[in-house]
Amino acid sequence: MRTKKRNFIVVTGGVLSGVGKGIITASIGNLISNLGFKVSMIKVDPYINIDAGTMRPTEHGEVWVTEDGGETDQDLGNYERFIDTNVLKGNNITTGQVYRTVIEKERNLEYGGKTVEVIPHIPDEIRRRIMDAGERDDADFVLIEIGGTVGDYQSALFLEAMRHFKMNMKENVVFVHVVFLPVPSNLGEMKTKPAQHSVRELNQAGIVPDIIVGRSRFDLDEPRKKKLSLFGNVEIKDIISAPDVPSIYEVPIILEEQGIIENLFERLGIKYKKNGKYDDWKKFINRIKNIKNTIKIGIIGKYFDTGDFSLEDSYISVIESVKHAGWNNNVNPEIIWIDSKKFEKDPSKLKELDKVDGIIIPGGFGSSGVEGKINAIEYARKKNIPYLGLCYGMQLAVVEYARNVCGMPGANSTEISKDTKYPVIDIMENQKDNLKNKKYGATMRLGRYDAVLKKGSTVYGLYGKENVSERHRHRYEVNPKFISQIEEKGLVFSGKSPDGTLMEFIELPGHKYFVGTQGHPEFKSRPLRPSPLFDGLIKAAKR
Ligand code: GLN
Repeated sequence: MRTKKRNFIVVTGGVLSGVGKGIITASIGNLISNLGFKVSMIKVDPYINIDAGTMRPTEHGEVWVTEDGGETDQDLGNYERFIDTNVLKGNNITTGQVYRTVIEKERNLEYGGKTVEVIPHIPDEIRRRIMDAGERDDADFVLIEIGGTVGDYQSALFLEAMRHFKMNMKENVVFVHVVFLPVPSNLGEMKTKPAQHSVRELNQAGIVPDIIVGRSRFDLDEPRKKKLSLFGNVEIKDIISAPDVPSIYEVPIILEEQGIIENLFERLGIKYKKNGKYDDWKKFINRIKNIKNTIKIGIIGKYFDTGDFSLEDSYISVIESVKHAGWNNNVNPEIIWIDSKKFEKDPSKLKELDKVDGIIIPGGFGSSGVEGKINAIEYARKKNIPYLGLCYGMQLAVVEYARNVCGMPGANSTEISKDTKYPVIDIMENQKDNLKNKKYGATMRLGRYDAVLKKGSTVYGLYGKENVSERHRHRYEVNPKFISQIEEKGLVFSGKSPDGTLMEFIELPGHKYFVGTQGHPEFKSRPLRPSPLFDGLIKAAKR
């Protein structure tokens, strides 16, 4: 189904950040794309960073990697999981990108000698980027999530751009404002006041919301809706209640049942027919609600020193991938967080790993906690505990094998030890200059790369084909000089780059499940299409 015009749905947030505006936006995208329309999802981030690649996960949450090699905000991950379409890097717009372009254009005399000013030139560039993304994605609907909270000084120019949007294309633009309604424990009752004020704040930016989504612990009752309607200047039917739910994947259904699509489409003048994809999603939700059995998956990581963001945010795609694979196998995964540092201080603690059914070591950087991870990998290998190593988790499995099986004491990655006698993981040749010249931003091996799997291997069986691709984000690789020595001792490099030079997958025959990949399969796992490697881990853990 196609629309005659391109439609824009702008989602803003009020009262607090972190209330699930990204999930609401992704859920609207899910409903519209399940009707068969083409959807382009855009996240606007008010920070100066050009992208999220240079940010610490504990500061800003996971860095999401797009198919075309963008290092973006984690919300793009939610979008991809909810609409099951590749969202490209141009769909994450930051203040830094916008200013950089405007300044470059000014230097190139592209403003024809005019004074270049914050208004209108910055909002103009924001709109240009949004129009470009809509065009590139050939979209019927462009969903734009404005990061931050209305009233933030740094979001103001983005709101200004959205006001211009509405001015220029009135009947093509609608606004959804997501507010938080607290239930203070001393009162035990839901309060609408902060939400009222946030609507006022939005009005001051010249924007009138069409729909208000109320996020809270509970459903919004009639008295709250009446109040919010009166002070928020919308009709009661335009207030949608979005209470806390056990699974984020239920949110599209909650919004749909309250008529959000009819409401949005009526405003935009779009007709539509329901189709079966929405029912598939509903069936999926009903199925996962009825899963009884659980399985314990240990994730060994290091981002435990929580900053503004929680542990869950640092590893969100890994967690979601475990859930997708678990549900596919009719089990609810329980995730056990394990700080690798404790295995360094006290190796007897490794016994704790006997309690889990499977272990994951996800991606990481630097030396902190690395020896503990290596000890844990040795334990998993010897005790036949299913193990999945993602990027760093694969590299460290190679280090462990070199040290403990191949007779290479002190083997290491040169990321950790520059002068190890056995640099089994080494910097990629084309990365050396980047590090020397401090070119850190967007210079890793990033995005989609193809690999060829070895016929008859475990990974070949899981993917069910020879040619596969996963997304990447790293600077180091298995050192080709040591491959034959390691292979002789039994570790199998079961997937390589098409030219055979880069080792992309490893596995250990005879083990219940001991698999690693240089890629990040967690970026391609979707609720209804789990990643084969996570699926393999869960299947082995269930046995
Ligand atoms: N630090 C390692 C590298 O740069 C692994 C990166 C990762 O796990 N994403 O190669």
